[in-house]
Amino acid sequence: MRFLKVAEYYRKIEETSGRLEMISLLKNLFLELKDSPEDLEKVAYLTIGKLRPDYEGVELGIGEKLALKAISLSTGIKESRINSEYKKLGDVGILAEWAVKNRAITPFVMEELTISRVYRDLLRIAKASGQSSQDVKIRTFAGLLSDAEPIEARYIARIVMGKLRLGIQDMTVLDALAEAFLGSRSRRLLLEQKYNIYPDIGRIARVVAEEGDAGLGKIEVRLGVPIRPMLAQRLKSAKEILEKAGPRVIAEYKYDGERMQIHIHRDGMVEIFSRRLENITNPYPDVAEAFSRYFSGREAIFDSETVAVNPNTGEILPFQELMHRRRKYGIEKAMEEYPTTTYVFDVLYLDGRSLIDVPLEERRKMLEKILPRKHDLIKEVTYRIVEDEESLEQFFEEAVEYGTEGVMAKDPRSIYQAGIRGWSWIKLKRSYMSKMVEPVDLVVVGAFAGKGKRAGTYGALLMAVYDPKTDRYKTVCKMGSGFTDEELASLPERLKEYRIQFRDPSVESKLEADVWLEPAIVLEVIGDEITLSPVHTCAWGVVRRNSGLAIRFPRFTGRWRDDKGPEDATTEEEIISMYKAQLTKVVEES
Ligand code: ATP
Repeated sequence: MRFLKVAEYYRKIEETSGRLEMISLLKNLFLELKDSPEDLEKVAYLTIGKLRPDYEGVELGIGEKLALKAISLSTGIKESRINSEYKKLGDVGILAEWAVKNRAITPFVMEELTISRVYRDLLRIAKASGQSSQDVKIRTFAGLLSDAEPIEARYIARIVMGKLRLGIQDMTVLDALAEAFLGSRSRRLLLEQKYNIYPDIGRIARVVAEEGDAGLGKIEVRLGVPIRPMLAQRLKSAKEILEKAGPRVIAEYKYDGERMQIHIHRDGMVEIFSRRLENITNPYPDVAEAFSRYFSGREAIFDSETVAVNPNTGEILPFQELMHRRRKYGIEKAMEEYPTTTYVFDVLYLDGRSLIDVPLEERRKMLEKILPRKHDLIKEVTYRIVEDEESLEQFFEEAVEYGTEGVMAKDPRSIYQAGIRGWSWIKLKRSYMSKMVEPVDLVVVGAFAGKGKRAGTYGALLMAVYDPKTDRYKTVCKMGSGFTDEELASLPERLKEYRIQFRDPSVESKLEADVWLEPAIVLEVIGDEITLSPVHTCAWGVVRRNSGLAIRFPRFTGRWRDDKGPEDATTEEEIISMYKAQLTKVVEES
């Protein structure tokens, strides 16, 4: 099918702001592609600005300079003109559309662009490496533009630069797929369950279009495909935890390192996936080697947390130390300086069998049977089965004493709920001495220009929570504290690549930022308390009419949550429950 059809749908999607309308447009696009499942698969990736599932690490995003060069090359418009138009238009998509419309040279033959050609060429651009890669990228992109209609050029250019920004993320695609092929949006849950154990939007799209419900039954846990991690709710006391997940819970130390899902293949190959499902095997060859050796000849998927340890004492070190390991070069040296221990707390797959539906208690028994008794790099999580408040509190104190963040309390009867933040896992963390007991992870969506001492940089950032139900980011505070001077000065440069001309369609804000930013970067923030707010859109109208919720006196903790994507940020729902918990606390104290 022609790519023009897709581009036209994208234009319509871009012009609507209503989410339901967006879903309906996307559904129609998918239905048009029903008879060519290969195209549907490709469009599913493209719509969220990707080419392959995240875990394969195929990254688009060619630099601005290269993109402008290619636009000039394909249209015959001088580079200087392209540059000055770009300054005026501010958007590479609109620029490409303008340039194609005003081509100075007309190609001899123009070939209509098909979805498969566009996809194939984009993949070629993404995968080009080595000496001639720049050349390949420019030529391939220019080649696409030579054959493109103006509206096609708009979207191809944006996709190539990794800036499609239709305001559509995975969950909206699943909504549209459910409407198109399962009869109703209410059936997204079914798709979501499959997506949680097999997070490949293209494959899900294809299977559901080709085989409907029957096909979905075939999507199973597979070695090499990361499962979306199960997440925890939070509570503030042992009492509440036992009420929720009790009467008996498995309490585990909550280590402060990096989450790792470790896949061991029978031939000894090991793949390590991060919380965001990126393949992070490269920076951790020692971890991979240890698991490969110890589990030789077996197949397994483990869920675990890896921490940095003091090479002399074996003591666990804070999270920041481990981050020295996340590098591309000098891995050998970093491995020596920052050795690690991996604390395994779950087994999700073993020798051909998925275990996600097996109760935790049984999974734990299996885990215990296969983990080494004494090993420097691989250890079992420290845990205790507790039934009363006092033992849980005591275990918590021990955990903190040992240098961990607190405890994770888990319901022994629970199955592994991939991608779900439910009440089967509850975290209890060290208190931070303010009413807001723990920090939150917020997405940067805009910035305000600094004044006085801060002139030339940003004075504050506009921060948002994520709402997975509507796939929207909602503002919750303006944050200007907690940055070091250097950090502050480097903010504009550091956030440059996310600058956009207008508010991102997925951001809900009543405030007008000076600079809008694509929701991409997550920062850890601590505040004093959560208050009602007339300007922030988080929980708008939920607690009180014409009011939202805001974080009072927000400060940056210094932690860039590079391990989190915007969709992993604290949710609106969590802020609402923190607000409610705070009210109860005030009542209890008075
Ligand atoms: P979340 O992952 O819940 O969104 P987060 O990344 O901010 O939030 P926390 O809320 O502090 O982290 O806690 C959850 C994380 O704790 C897990 O993702 C995992 O990396 C880590 N963790 C450490 N020890 C354990 C354990 N025993 N069981 C499960 N997770 C653990």
